[in-house]
Amino acid sequence: MRDVEPFVEGFHLDIMDGVFVPNISYGPVVVEAVRRVTSLPLHCHLMITSPAKYVAAFRAAGADSILVHIETLESPEEVFAAIRASGASVGLTLNPETPIQRALPWLPSIDELLIMSVHPGFGGQAFQPESLERVRLAAAHRDRAGRPVRISIDGGIGPENARRVIAAGADILVAGTSVFRAPNRREAVEAMRRGA
Ligand code: ZN
Repeated sequence: MRDVEPFVEGFHLDIMDGVFVPNISYGPVVVEAVRRVTSLPLHCHLMITSPAKYVAAFRAAGADSILVHIETLESPEEVFAAIRASGASVGLTLNPETPIQRALPWLPSIDELLIMSVHPGFGGQAFQPESLERVRLAAAHRDRAGRPVRISIDGGIGPENARRVIAAGADILVAGTSVFRAPNRREAVEAMRRGA
């Protein structure tokens, strides 16, 4: 992890509960351990049911932003308010099969919209090309939000598609496998930047 720190803007931590997604990863204790070894922003992507219950724990562990799934929220506004009150940035995300229209009304309440370009739960999946249209649609609507909303994309991102997702309007590329399995991690990141 430390080896990539000089050439990335932050760390995206995938939190999985084995219920909302079929896999289990880690919780606040590991986030806290990561917090101790980097000063870069930590983005906690909560792929968990009842995320509101854990906002305080992840913030206390060192999360700079907390991203929650629209599919898990009964009262989105309350959860966004809780994240904001904790001091973290507010991120909203949605699975590939969830209509993007479900997220658009919340743009004025969030700082970041994360578009999943694979079904969440496992690394190493292929990028779903339909995601590009979802990024374009979100980018077309964000100007109406009245606040700066970053668009990020997560899943199957690498040098081969970076140019297309950036052109579609993505501000933040979340990459795991394509960096950590690359023979030269710096070169993998630089290749994605060149995509711009
Ligand atoms: Zn993620």
